[in-house]
Amino acid sequence: MSRPVVLGNGHILSGWEDPSVVTGGAVAWEGERILAVGPEVEVLRAHPDALYLDAGGGLIAPGLVNLHHHFYSSLARGLDPGTPMRNFPEILDRLWWRLDRALDPDAVRISALLSALDCVRWGCTTVFDHHASPSCIPGSLDLVAGALDTAGIGGVLCYEVTDRNGDFGAEQGIAENLEFLASRAGDPRIRGVFGLHASFTVSDETLATVAARRPANAGVHVHVAEHPVDVECSMEEFGATPIQRLQRSGLLDERALLAHAIHVNDHDYRLAADAGAVLIHNPESNANNGVGRLDLPRAAGFGCSIGLGTDGMSSSVLRALRSAFLGLRGGSEDPELGFETVPGLLATNTRVAGRFLDEPLLGQLVPGAPADVIAVTSPPPTTIDSTNWFGHLAYGAAEAPVRHTVARGSVVLQDYVPTGLDSEELAAEARSLAPALWRRFHELDWNTPYLGPARAGRKEKTR
Ligand SMILES: [Zn+2]
Repeated sequence: MSRPVVLGNGHILSGWEDPSVVTGGAVAWEGERILAVGPEVEVLRAHPDALYLDAGGGLIAPGLVNLHHHFYSSLARGLDPGTPMRNFPEILDRLWWRLDRALDPDAVRISALLSALDCVRWGCTTVFDHHASPSCIPGSLDLVAGALDTAGIGGVLCYEVTDRNGDFGAEQGIAENLEFLASRAGDPRIRGVFGLHASFTVSDETLATVAARRPANAGVHVHVAEHPVDVECSMEEFGATPIQRLQRSGLLDERALLAHAIHVNDHDYRLAADAGAVLIHNPESNANNGVGRLDLPRAAGFGCSIGLGTDGMSSSVLRALRSAFLGLRGGSEDPELGFETVPGLLATNTRVAGRFLDEPLLGQLVPGAPADVIAVTSPPPTTIDSTNWFGHLAYGAAEAPVRHTVARGSVVLQDYVPTGLDSEELAAEARSLAPALWRRFHELDWNTPYLGPARAGRKEKTR
C-alpha cells in the first residue's frame, strides 16, 4: 500500500508556461500521480496521514527536462588530449571521436551513472541522451537506460548513427536504435528516438535507410549546423543544407530534435518551423566550443519551437537557462532581450517530453500529472507571482542547489542526498576506471582511417 506524500513549505510554480504561483503551497501525490496542489493548509487537511517533505521555504516546481545531453562525456573531465584543438572540427577529431571509440561497456555504464546522478542533483527528471560508443554499440543503450533506472529518472535515448566509422559501424548504430525503439515502445519511463550524429558524417544512403526502417513517429535526434563545416560539407557533398537533407529524406517532422541549429539560413528556419521540428539551444556547450550561438529572437521570429539542452557540459538545466538568458543579452548587447524567448525554452522541453512519453500533463503540477516535482533552495527574497517568476529563476533559483527531486512519485534526492546512488562510491569507481579509458584514448590516433566517405571531403578542406 502506498501512502500519500506532501511536499510543503514552499512557493509553488505550477509549470513553465503561464504558471500559477501559490505562496505557502504544497503538492500531494500517491504512487506516480499528483493528487492535489494548492495552499498547504488545504492540502494537509485533505491528506492528514501523508508523509511530509519540507521544501524549506524554497520553490516547488515541476521536474526539469533536458532535451540534449551526452552521458558518455562524463569521464572527459580533466583529460588532456595532448594536442591543440584550434577549432570545432579538431575538437571532434582529437577529443570526442577518440573518447567515444575508447569507451568500453564499463566506461559507458559508469559515465551514464555519473551523469544520471548529476541530473538527480539538479532536479532533472527526464533527459534526452545522445549516445556514442563505436567500439561497443550493441546493447549500449540498455546500459544507459540501466543508469537512468538506478538513479530513478526517465528519459528518451538514442544511438548517434554515423558513417565516420564505416559501413559496419553505421549498420550497428541503426540496429541499436531499432532494437531499443522496439523494446521500449510501451515503456512508461524510458523510450527511444532515432539518433543521427550530424549531416556531414551521414551519407544519403544511410539517411534513406533510416527513413525506411525507423518506426512511424520515432523522430530523429541530430546535431544540426553546430559549426559552419556541417553546412559547407553538406552543400558540397550532398547539394543541400543539413535541414534540407532531413526534409528531402522525410525525417523533418514534429518529432525531429535539431540540436544547436546555429548556422541556419532564413529559408531553413522556415522549413523547421513549418515541419514543427524542435531546435535545441545549448548555450554553455556553444560557448565552450566557440561555435557561435542560436539566435533565439530570430529563430522564434520564424515560428520555430526552441528547447534547451546541456550537451554534456553539465546536467543543470536551470544553469543552462541562465546561460541562455545572459548569452542572449551579452551577445546582442541588448539588455532588454530575454524575457520574450528564454522562459519558453523550459515549456518546450516539457511539451516535447510529454509527446515522446505520451504524458500530456508532464511538466505541470496539476492533479493527475506524473509526480515529477523538485524543491529548489531559493526562498524568494521578494514577492514572487505569475508575472515575475522568470526573474526569480534567472537571478536566483538557477544558481541554487536542489533540495528534493521526486520522479514519478519516488524521492530520488532527499535533503540534497541521492537515494539511489552513493555519489562518493560512484566517483571512486570512476576514478579507478578512468586511467584505463584515458590510456586507450591516448593510444588512438585521430588520423586513423576510420572515417566514412562524408568525412573524407571535409578533411582536405579543414587541414
Ligand atoms: Zn551534442
